[in-house]
Amino acid sequence: MLDLAIIGGGPAGLTAGLYATRGGLKNVTMFEMGMPGGQITGSSEIENYPGQSGLMTGMELMENWPKQCQQFGLKHEMNQVSQVTKEGDIFTLTLIDGTKQEAKSVLLATGSVPRRAGFEGEDKFFGRGISTCATCDGFFYKGKEVALIGGGDSALEEAVYLAKLCSKVYLVHRRDTYRAAPSTIEHMKACENIEEVTNVTVEEVYGDNMGVTGLKVKEKESGDIRDLPVPGVFVFVGRDVLSDSLKQEDGSYLCDVNEQTEVIVDLKMRTNVPGLYAAGDVRIDAAKQVVCAAADGATAAVDIIEYLG
Ligand code: NAP
Repeated sequence: MLDLAIIGGGPAGLTAGLYATRGGLKNVTMFEMGMPGGQITGSSEIENYPGQSGLMTGMELMENWPKQCQQFGLKHEMNQVSQVTKEGDIFTLTLIDGTKQEAKSVLLATGSVPRRAGFEGEDKFFGRGISTCATCDGFFYKGKEVALIGGGDSALEEAVYLAKLCSKVYLVHRRDTYRAAPSTIEHMKACENIEEVTNVTVEEVYGDNMGVTGLKVKEKESGDIRDLPVPGVFVFVGRDVLSDSLKQEDGSYLCDVNEQTEVIVDLKMRTNVPGLYAAGDVRIDAAKQVVCAAADGATAAVDIIEYLG
């Protein structure tokens, strides 16, 4: 029986593990199917983590976290939790291999995954020229032209990163104003090899047996179609939270969630189910920042220690 089961090994899960074990909990396991670090390890440029000096990659930022967070006894199990249920005061985690694990408390810190934009060819060419990770795949397009879809912080930051590797980046956005922070917009506009293709919808990404060879966009006002013959398309159109493990047999969720299935929590990261917490990007109103996710994890752990008495 675990005192605390942490689901997810990003900044929220790791920090919760650090605070829970350092705060005296003996039996704490973090379930993370991959290497701890979370989605931020796919980011290529970070400049707003307090205390950092200069630009860092997500990998560099997270490098020392697992070791520090595990030094007080946090265990890492490389496994995926497919469902969380509760009977009486005890939670049962069903793992992907069918095995079960009981726990007195649970923290969901599963974050989110890249959203699909929904254009023709997206599923067909995903992984064959369409990517959602510039740090992972940008290198394949060194010296070539690429297109990038989206107008938020992720899109513009990754456009700036790709502009350093690629000969040209077409920044394809459905409006002519961006959601990204003003300084990020400034960085993007300073890149001479980024061409803004705004007020367009993506009609289709096309290709052949080898992968993507281009995309067609439609100008909203004129209806004109423009062809961008690129071998790579990067999609950054937001993210969907990973809260499916809270789904019960009857399709309901173990605790209250909103329409986007983000977990509803209070200021102590408590859900409406005693002993069940959520932290980081998976919760409502998340600022989607590493520093905020880490703070959520710490906040939750402090209350979990009190809950377990
Ligand atoms: P986001 O802010 O939700 O932006 C998504 C962008 O994709 C929007 O510009 C949106 O267009 C566009 N879009 C959405 N669906 C689309 C579709 N089907 N087809 C074409 N375009 C579509 O997502 P994000 O950039 O991933 O950022 C998520 C959160 O993380 C934000 O809160 C952001 O501030 C934060 N973040 C922060 C940093 C940082 O602080 N350094 C870095 C990355 C992310 P519209 O604008 O027209 O809706």
